Amino acid sequence: MRRRDFSKALLAGPAMPAAAAQEYQRRVNGLPPLTIKDAKVITTSGGRGYRWIFLKITTSEPGLYGIGSAGNHYQTMAVVAALEKHLAPWLIGKDPDRIEDLWQSAHVRTYWRNGPINNNVLSGLDMALWDIKGKRAGMPVYELLGGKARDAVPCYDHAGGADKESAVESVRKSMERGFRHIRVQFGEGGYGGGGFIRAGQGNRPEGGYKGLAFDEELYVHTIPGVFEYVRSKVGYEPKLCHDVHSHLSGINAVELARRLQPYQLLFVEDILPPEQIQWFRNLRQVSTTPQAVGEVFTHPFEYLPLITERLIDYVRCRVSAIGGITAARKVAVLCEIFGCKTAFQEGGENDPVNQLAAYHVDISSTGFGIQEENGFPPVVHEMMPGVAEIRKGYLYGNGKPGLGIDINEPLAAKYPLGEIRDGGAYRTDRTLDGAVVKP
Ligand code: MG
Repeated sequence: MRRRDFSKALLAGPAMPAAAAQEYQRRVNGLPPLTIKDAKVITTSGGRGYRWIFLKITTSEPGLYGIGSAGNHYQTMAVVAALEKHLAPWLIGKDPDRIEDLWQSAHVRTYWRNGPINNNVLSGLDMALWDIKGKRAGMPVYELLGGKARDAVPCYDHAGGADKESAVESVRKSMERGFRHIRVQFGEGGYGGGGFIRAGQGNRPEGGYKGLAFDEELYVHTIPGVFEYVRSKVGYEPKLCHDVHSHLSGINAVELARRLQPYQLLFVEDILPPEQIQWFRNLRQVSTTPQAVGEVFTHPFEYLPLITERLIDYVRCRVSAIGGITAARKVAVLCEIFGCKTAFQEGGENDPVNQLAAYHVDISSTGFGIQEENGFPPVVHEMMPGVAEIRKGYLYGNGKPGLGIDINEPLAAKYPLGEIRDGGAYRTDRTLDGAVVKP
């Protein structure tokens, strides 16, 4: 026997049929072999105008399946098509145990990667696989991530008012419900409130835009006065934050951070749009107002320099927008190492599966900072048994294996996706001269 042939024979070991060898490999972790049998997309409005997308992955083991969130309120059908036409046919027959491998291979199989739709697809896949792994292990997902690093997950509430008195009243109500962390928004017009010139008012171009008009300098002038007033009424015990929602440009963002410093906020959120993250270097030099950033981030290069250069204090990605639990726990570890914290985005149109995915990462991560609250109407609790609960400012899971949530498919089907409002667009704010303001 030639030396090369001998080595081959040695490597091959005793003769074993290919199928049996595969079976042996599969059983070395003590678990029976498993394959993905189906990947089904479930959409529902939840009876409330939501545009939720879930991926349900079923396995070769009878009754063993997982559910993931691939939520995208604005490009819903693009995500549905990507899941049904592109991911599912590739996924069938694969081994659901290999979460990291499936995440990495799904990440590169589209060639062009990152971005919202690709990451939503990854998230649906990833959360469902973690759900399956947890159920298979008989443990909640957080146990597989290292176990509880805290007893429950503190959340911040949403408060605000059209005027200062009603803002204070809203903060007090939130405190009475047990919240220690409270976001305060102000004025009329939603995000950017306090900086809007009323519809039809102000000096505008002839025949131009007539609606609410955002004015940066007005906003920077108004908001510090609101926090001065709220602090004078409720003191410094509640931890207050505020969401600018990317409405400011560079130097105005720096100035707002400077002016808010005396009111000792927990953080200011999205003071700059993602296109202007370089400005955080300037901001850091003149203000210690903590910065929370990143609800629209979908690429690691957006948050990586901010975390590693210690330019922000909280990273606010949405778990289902960055690729699920696998991506979120890496962000949490990065935060721990560089002294940043997570504040995963929730609220609004988010779904209960995404909320629970954040919960499992939050409760097991040292890099955790705070979680945004989100509540659901009774019909959603009926439709999705296991929805996490917020009590006195803390988010609690149910301790069941996997993510701990299920979906009643016949009930979900009773609430099909409705017509999308505004042609599927997020609201566009404009200035007096009619130019677009970053949302
Ligand atoms: Mg926000």
